[in-house]
Amino acid sequence: MDPIDRLSFLFEKFPGIGPRQARRFVQYLLSTSPTTRQELSEIIKKLGAESRQCGMCYRWFTLKGQQGSTLTPGLSKVEPCCSICANPAREAGIIFVVEKDADIENVERSGFRGLYFVLGGSIALASDDAEGQVRLRELLKRVDEDASTLKLNELILGLSSSTDGDHTREILIEKLRPLSQSLNFRISSLGRGLSTGSELEYADPDTIAQALGNRH
Ligand SMILES: [Zn+2]
Repeated sequence: MDPIDRLSFLFEKFPGIGPRQARRFVQYLLSTSPTTRQELSEIIKKLGAESRQCGMCYRWFTLKGQQGSTLTPGLSKVEPCCSICANPAREAGIIFVVEKDADIENVERSGFRGLYFVLGGSIALASDDAEGQVRLRELLKRVDEDASTLKLNELILGLSSSTDGDHTREILIEKLRPLSQSLNFRISSLGRGLSTGSELEYADPDTIAQALGNRH
């Protein structure tokens, strides 16, 4: 496959990108300077070498400029840990479950100062393999460990207000309920401050703060 076709094919795999947009990206790269293309390829290489997925919340972070400890207090073995999970000033008793990394940035702007867990998506209604689509097993493990070591008080489900989001919420509540009863923590959902179909990634910080205040 020639480089133009190959690169178009790779861009098509990006979320929300179709064949026409993929072609436009390639055309843009062809029209740009060799220096820009060089910089882009080097950054992509660095992204792999200098980024890690947090062993506690599963968000991606860059090792350079990482503040605080890289040891994970709640885990039995040493794993890389992001600056949020390693920050002792954060409220460890609350875990906010989000679908993706991009949601965290917006929730941070709303003033939330607890911890996070990135589920890695939502469970499609039509799917019969719920556990294969998101980090359900990892979430149960995290909750189990945090409840015994860090005194977990509350788990907030910050899933999108969509059919898949609602379906995911139902499955999570069903799987987490026995743990919440035996380990004594509360499971809450965001209040309806967020409009139907809206996602945390696109909601403004005030709306998120309001939905957090109205959680039930
Ligand atoms: Zn983390």
